[in-house]
Amino acid sequence: MLRMHQLPRQGHIEVICGPMFSGKSETLIGRLRRSLIAKQRVQVFKPSVDDRYGEERIASHSELWLEAKATKDSTDLLTHVLPETKVVGIDEIQFFDDDVVGVVERLADQGKRVVVAGLDLDYSAKPFSIVAELLARAEFVTKTLAVCIQCGDVASRSQRLIASANRVVIGAKDAYEARCRHCHDPRAEVTTAQLFPDSEPLSN
Ligand code: ADP
Ligand code: MG
Repeated sequence: MLRMHQLPRQGHIEVICGPMFSGKSETLIGRLRRSLIAKQRVQVFKPSVDDRYGEERIASHSELWLEAKATKDSTDLLTHVLPETKVVGIDEIQFFDDDVVGVVERLADQGKRVVVAGLDLDYSAKPFSIVAELLARAEFVTKTLAVCIQCGDVASRSQRLIASANRVVIGAKDAYEARCRHCHDPRAEVTTAQLFPDSEPLSN
């Protein structure tokens, strides 16, 4: 775990990444709350496309939450960062436009601690390029893992449970579950037989 006394005084980037349900938001909220306890100026952002928990907060599946500003793109985000802000938190970074990488770098260069959380892989286990790039540029990297819903092993993948041609489908438990490398099926459409292996096949 990152301890505050170990952090550099100058700006830097921290990336928290992993599959859905792995505790990315929990970890992000925990770090930002510690900064608030230390009376540092903190601003929290999320992309407005993610409306799962309402407009004004980031939240975890374990019901931790923190107030946040929903921003439509990286330019919008940059214009909202105040000069006196010391810590910038961004959740669901993979939903921003590609320019967010430059914005995060710029904020860190200005001396801010920038803590970002996001999915490293999409539902088919292909890297989100924004997160891949930020992982390479960050000073600190945390990979969070979930529990595989199928076998209980360590889960690094997000299994999509509904059919869609889109790379991004916003949703939580109804649309995705955490799976390990072995149980993950990268095809978008998962059949009833895969979801409920013990169920009787439908007869017609
Ligand atoms: P993320 O932001 O990575 O989606 P959250 O921080 O929102 O994750 O939620 C993490 C919490 O989700 C865990 O502490 C646990 O309470 C809950 N949870 C639900 N399903 C799982 C799972 N399959 N593996 C681990 N945690 C899970
Ligand atoms: Mg989250």
